[in-house]
Amino acid sequence: MQAAAARAERLESLRVLSAGLAHDFNNILATVTGNAEFALQRAGEDSLLREALEDIREAGRRAAEMVRQMLRFAGGGELAREPVDLIAVTLDTLRMLRGALGNGVMATTDLPETPVVVMADPVGIRQVLMNLIINASEAMAEGGGTLTVRVGHQRVTRAYLDRCRQRTCFGCADAQPGAYACLEVADTGVGMDAATLERIFEPFFSTKFQGRGLGLAAVLGVVVGHRGAVHVESEKGKGTTFRVLLPLTCEG
Ligand code: ADP
Ligand code: MG
Repeated sequence: MQAAAARAERLESLRVLSAGLAHDFNNILATVTGNAEFALQRAGEDSLLREALEDIREAGRRAAEMVRQMLRFAGGGELAREPVDLIAVTLDTLRMLRGALGNGVMATTDLPETPVVVMADPVGIRQVLMNLIINASEAMAEGGGTLTVRVGHQRVTRAYLDRCRQRTCFGCADAQPGAYACLEVADTGVGMDAATLERIFEPFFSTKFQGRGLGLAAVLGVVVGHRGAVHVESEKGKGTTFRVLLPLTCEG
């Protein structure tokens, strides 16, 4: 329990720090990319100069993507509220990522027949799913395996929320009992030990070579912004399951 409180506190201070940084950084970035674009228009035929300017523009684009993920973690930016069918988003995202899944990764789904609609931010939800699927695929980069996306409804009771204290979850402390939609991404990959699990939602925490460590931070920001919760179960060498719960009624 104490570990969970310390974890939440650490995340909260990182959230404040990220919000400030991301905001200032965005303004600087706008100057860099805006001027690179302007210079490109004037660079004429000088191919070396054009190449250098295109590199600046590309680096700016990557930095902007990082800032977006940081802002999502920080809960900055308005969340849209519109009906989002989790089944449609799942199928769409899997189709989009088909080519990006590792060799030997088999993607399967477990979806109900009728739509599972939440009032949510469609871009945010898509990003949650994308980040979870990419991580699952990366966890199976070595030996391949099965990636399963499940969508469904879940009734969350007080007892369920109490049990949450015993596992790695976020958002449950503030969650209310009620009807939720659930979105689960499971893999049969490398899994995590307890020390890693403890830190996965921190921005810039990564165990990967050249990992940015912003994917799960963004996931958490979006989920908490929707007053949802996220649970993780993982076993080293066996695999990992992320379960995202999103309230079905819009409570602002
Ligand atoms: P990145 O993918 O850039 O490392 P993330 O925020 O997406 O950053 O993930 C943070 C860390 O959480 C990863 O480096 C990895 O250690 C761990 N992780 C996330 N998803 C999984 C997964 N499905 N299986 C095993 N480890 C995972
Ligand atoms: Mg990632």
